[in-house]
Amino acid sequence: MCLNYSRRARTAGARPWTSRVRKGGEPLGWNPTPGNPSLLKELNQFLILDALRRYGSLSRSDLARITGLTPPTVGVIVKGLLEEGYLVEQASLPASGVGRRPVPLALNPRAGVAVGVNVSTTKVLILAVNLLGQVQARRSFPIPPGAAAEAVLEQVTGNILEMLAELRPRRVFGVGVGLHGPVDHQRGLLRFAPHLGWRNVPVADLLGAALPGPVVVDNGVRCMAQGELWFGAARGVENLVCVAVGTGIGSAIVLDGRLYRGAEGVAGEIGHVTVDVEGPRCDCGNYGCLETLASGPAIARQAARRLKQGVPSLLADWGLDPDRLTAADVARAALAGDELSRQVFAEAGMYLGIAIANLAKTLNPSRILIGGGVAQAGDLLLEPLRRTLAQRTEGLLPGEVPVEPIQLGGDAGAIGAATLVLERFFRGDTVPQILDFIER
Ligand SMILES: [Zn+2]
Repeated sequence: MCLNYSRRARTAGARPWTSRVRKGGEPLGWNPTPGNPSLLKELNQFLILDALRRYGSLSRSDLARITGLTPPTVGVIVKGLLEEGYLVEQASLPASGVGRRPVPLALNPRAGVAVGVNVSTTKVLILAVNLLGQVQARRSFPIPPGAAAEAVLEQVTGNILEMLAELRPRRVFGVGVGLHGPVDHQRGLLRFAPHLGWRNVPVADLLGAALPGPVVVDNGVRCMAQGELWFGAARGVENLVCVAVGTGIGSAIVLDGRLYRGAEGVAGEIGHVTVDVEGPRCDCGNYGCLETLASGPAIARQAARRLKQGVPSLLADWGLDPDRLTAADVARAALAGDELSRQVFAEAGMYLGIAIANLAKTLNPSRILIGGGVAQAGDLLLEPLRRTLAQRTEGLLPGEVPVEPIQLGGDAGAIGAATLVLERFFRGDTVPQILDFIER
């Protein structure tokens, strides 16, 4: 079934758009056909754009040195990129000697946007993100319990069209979508989202029918890792493990600067790694999975169990019902000095430390990032995690692996989804679309 999103979005009040081929010259983006005379020039354009993404601000001579291109080639390409609005010139630097003062160049914050969508278990966040990772516009809406995937994606389409019509960006690089559960990144297919009950949803096809640019779909933790890699706590890191601790637990693995997805695209399912062979039964059918001992629901369950055993706690003093506790309640009590709650977080952190130590010994990452709702508990969770990781890797790894919270906070998943699209553009795989917003 193919839904006509654009017609529905129009009736919902969005301004319609049409895409057109950019006037004058070929669109930036290339297909490596043999004998294509512009191929080398296109490749060199992306070398320059990517150098500016990495370094922020560079003069033409810096660009020549970093990319290995000749100064005249850099001059010609920069001129074209300035005319196209991809770059801006900044105030010139003081001259180091005789001759012209070098003019720093940077990516243009107004060159265009990528749209990033994060579909969590309870809400959708949509961001328009520029080439510098800065948020230009945002939308969000709740997902009602039991909502069908098609209805939610239709609402996503309507919101994106409205947002773009208001923002009127110079160009759109595409749409990235992050979802929980296993995702077939190649086919743009959500295999299974356990907390939403969605199965085999062709997300890229459903959204791509009405939205500009390519639609890139991936697991939400991988999106988070890509966003942190380019715009957050892992800039410049080549080997990274990013773990999201929330309702479930997932991880993303970055090897040699690129996301590692595995043969079937399900690499990083750390939530179902066994950390206690005699532990509780997991929804997946195994026993003692990390998710049964360190996720948000597991933390609430552990606190409830002790309360019911009569262990004194602020949680009881506050009159909270043990069967309705959340990890946030337990974190609040722990921060207020409650011993029971601190103990529960110490155990969850220890189990995370065991699982992450196994990953660290297998993959030898240079950094570990922790995100997700439960990670907002900060050192309550991170200190026991770091302690366990250090104990279990001592003598086996050359040094301690730094464990840090993510930097992009609640926007990390959506910024990261947009970053997946930008990553394709900087690689030269994507032709950005210029939109004509037609007033009716
Ligand atoms: Zn499991």
